[in-house]
Amino acid sequence: MAPAAAATEVEVDAWAARDTSGHLSPFTFSRRASRPGDVKFKVLFCGVCHSDLHQIHNDWGGSIYPMVPGHEMVGEVTEVGSDVIWPALST
Ligand SMILES: [Zn+2]
Repeated sequence: MAPAAAATEVEVDAWAARDTSGHLSPFTFSRRASRPGDVKFKVLFCGVCHSDLHQIHNDWGGSIYPMVPGHEMVGEVTEVGSDVIWPALST
């Protein structure tokens, strides 16, 4: 059997703002597949900080919707690309 072709895009489930109301709703989008220099992880928890709120409300101008806020997250690494130099972790 031939090896499966690498996915060029993956589906991602998220919560998105669609306007300045501050309401978030479920949203699915596609992003490129992981590359050798990427670390992929599953987001387990995500904060929404004051910067995210400013972006959602377009307080600084230039916000683009739909928008998936939340740049401060904790997760579980699920994939490490072959070009990534991963620090040794002691347990
Ligand atoms: Zn922040």
